Amino acid sequence: EAKAEGGARVVFFEAAMGDAVRERFRLERELRLAIGENQLRLYLQPQVDAAGLQVGCEALVRWQHPERGLVPPIMFIPLAESSELIVSLDRWMLAEVCRLLAQLKREGHPLRISVNISPRHFRREDFVDEVKRLLAASGADASYLVLEVTEGMVIGDVNDVIAKMNKLKEMGVQFSMDDFGTGYSSLAYLKRLPIHELKIDKGFIQDSTSDSNDAALVETILSVAQHMNLQVVAEGVETQEQADFLNARAKVIHQGYLFGRPEPVDTWLERHRA
Ligand code: C2E
Ligand code: MG
Ligand code: MG
Ligand code: MG
Repeated sequence: EAKAEGGARVVFFEAAMGDAVRERFRLERELRLAIGENQLRLYLQPQVDAAGLQVGCEALVRWQHPERGLVPPIMFIPLAESSELIVSLDRWMLAEVCRLLAQLKREGHPLRISVNISPRHFRREDFVDEVKRLLAASGADASYLVLEVTEGMVIGDVNDVIAKMNKLKEMGVQFSMDDFGTGYSSLAYLKRLPIHELKIDKGFIQDSTSDSNDAALVETILSVAQHMNLQVVAEGVETQEQADFLNARAKVIHQGYLFGRPEPVDTWLERHRA
């Protein structure tokens, strides 16, 4: 009798389960297969200096789904981050970026490439060894690899985070603080972390020319970076006005649609060689 009741409950639960939840389960199952089925794609977006010269680029993942088409990260990164799936995904990207770095070096056009690292991945005990292994296996120079981390990484043992970062830094790897200003940023942590770069979140940049509060925030971040001797990347620069606003105030690296959208590695490579 109890069993029948439980069964009825399950049926009831399944019926009440929204389409959204069912869709989420399906997407998670498909994403699990996507890595092995070679459906992930490496995209690159240029980062340019004030003169418009490409000084680096950011690696961004896309999912070439057999039926859904090209799926943007917002549709699957948060989902992947709720499980260990993000570790396999980030690892795939890291390996692709290392291979690309080695190729660029062989071809005589080395360039700095940034890759996003999820907090869950960074916090793994074997993270340092994994990066070391991927660099060695590919023949890439550590000094061209930039790991983009977020403030979310710092929850828990800060000393452990710093120790790991220092090990990687000793190898030549650089760290960039992504989406700066959107998380639980603590300026005290910022001072202790061995990062070399801050990325101003695109939300601040996009309103910097229309909203005085955002303009003030951007100016504050620029000033903090200058005092701490950190390089700055402005994310989401879409208009000349935004670029001018930044250039008038500091030496800033720009990343945004004004200078180039994320594009597949193949076409990016062709342009980079030319
Ligand atoms: P993010 O790391 O902050 O990357 C910058 C995002 O801003 C990218 O979105 C990029 O396409 C977008 N963007 C750049 N310039 C402009 C602009 O001028 N206007 C607008 N509207 N957007 C601009 P994307 O590629 O959709 O990626 C979204 C987020 O997904 C990333 O934000 C990052 O947090 C995450 N992500 C992407 N690839 C990976 C990955 O390989 N691993 C991990 N863990 N996360 C990733
Ligand atoms: Mg990023
Ligand atoms: Mg990010
Ligand atoms: Mg960002």
